[in-house]
Amino acid sequence: MRKQIAAANWKMNCTYQAGEQLLDEILSASIALKDHQQTIFAVPFPYLIMAKSETENENNYFVAAQNCYNKKSGAYTGEVSVEMLQSIGIPFCVLGHSERREYFQESNKMLAEKTDLCLQYDITPIFCCGEPLNIREAGTQNSYVETQLKESLFHLSEKDIKRIVIAYEPIWAIGTGKTATSDQAQEMHAYLRSVLAKQYGEAVAAEISILYGGSVKANNAKELFSQPDVDGGLVGGASLNAGEFITIINSLK
Ligand code: 13P
Repeated sequence: MRKQIAAANWKMNCTYQAGEQLLDEILSASIALKDHQQTIFAVPFPYLIMAKSETENENNYFVAAQNCYNKKSGAYTGEVSVEMLQSIGIPFCVLGHSERREYFQESNKMLAEKTDLCLQYDITPIFCCGEPLNIREAGTQNSYVETQLKESLFHLSEKDIKRIVIAYEPIWAIGTGKTATSDQAQEMHAYLRSVLAKQYGEAVAAEISILYGGSVKANNAKELFSQPDVDGGLVGGASLNAGEFITIINSLK
């Protein structure tokens, strides 16, 4: 059974102390995750080591970086390499969040490079995709998101594509309180799985976790995650509240 994942994306929020307290509160709920379930905290770079040590003895709780650079090393002041993340034992990295695509001009090609580097260093990419509102209104969201996948991921071998986690995050639903309906989420997730199946075969597509992101809250997580092709969520705002996120973890199937 493919993994069901509750992933928190803290974005650029929390002081170190507040972040530590938030993790303590969530972990002290002692939610026992089943073998096929994972909880991942994507925290700011300066908190990675702290979050790693907080989660180290917890079964199926992991830490993710929110970004990495697309070059191995060198004179890139202010950037963080995949090798650096590997050297402190970080197992996941969020790639291509819409905020990075929009504010930092990350292209599908650049994200293909980041994906390759992550895989090379044994870090699992949580690859984000999703359409803006005007594309949704024009009804062309399927081909828009398909292109994001094709241009960043479809050069991968069958073995490597199975190492990717995909997060579908419609931009119009991020931070807006306007969640996609569970039908809209299921429809896109099923479409993405069919695109993966066309390229890599049904068996491979069935193994890839596809998370939904965009105003996931305690009160809608269960309904969203119950959809057959929705394998959990990538959660922004609600992941900053211990009670909300605990409920979201408990909503995994
Ligand atoms: P919100 O849950 O705040 O809408 O953010 C979603 C998101 O961007 C997660 O990566």
